[in-house]
Amino acid sequence: MNEPRNDDPLIDVREVTKAYGHGPDALAGLTLRVRAGEALAVLGPSGSGKSTLLNLIAGLDRPTSGSVTVDGVRVDRLGETASAKYRRSRIGMVFQFFNLLDDLTVTENVLLPAQLSGMPRVRAAARAAELLARLGIERHARARPGRLSGGERQRVAVARALMNRPPLLIADEPTGALDSVSGAEVRDLLRGLNADGQTLVLVTHDLSLAESLATRTVELVDGRVARDFPAVTR
Ligand code: ADP
Repeated sequence: MNEPRNDDPLIDVREVTKAYGHGPDALAGLTLRVRAGEALAVLGPSGSGKSTLLNLIAGLDRPTSGSVTVDGVRVDRLGETASAKYRRSRIGMVFQFFNLLDDLTVTENVLLPAQLSGMPRVRAAARAAELLARLGIERHARARPGRLSGGERQRVAVARALMNRPPLLIADEPTGALDSVSGAEVRDLLRGLNADGQTLVLVTHDLSLAESLATRTVELVDGRVARDFPAVTR
């Protein structure tokens, strides 16, 4: 594994294709570089390849051709164990429907990534408490996520995603299941994290979310980057 150089992009996706048997390629020679500190919104119609791109960046799938490098790691060459380790240490993921475990408390959910990566318990507990306080959900520490509002659940999911201090936070429609007030809170939370230096890749259908959160927006069409533009409103 090569160490990344300072001037290397955090994400370097080169000439990637992804074929799923029948039909046109889900990704058709896509190239995308993302620098540390960017908040990138990925837009595009359904079927344009957004989820496929996220899966390749997260090492959940492999490209048919081309390369995917994240934080100096050739993600497309990792085996299963190395890929799981890569995700634990370098990627935080936030999903539309939170993906929290309702048999566990809020704190236990947030601690999971630390336990999987072997972080010492005392350090993990301190980190979890710090995150819950920072995200304004410390009073729910011992509650089950199912008892919280959607916006609170998404904040728990963000806390969990940040537990291992990943260089990259990926959010897939993070406000898609929230009412407008909760959605705005989660948007502000993500914007604050990015302002503090957290690199963010956001997939969304919501143009206003992209406009208010992203420092750069790319639009995928037919598995390629059709447009790539800096934020105008942020
Ligand atoms: P988006 O996230 O933009 O809606 P996707 O990446 O999910 O787009 O899909 C891109 C294309 O790849 C679509 O034509 C979709 O049908 C196809 N596709 C995605 N995943 C699979 C899969 N597991 N098997 C077969 N085809 C797939």
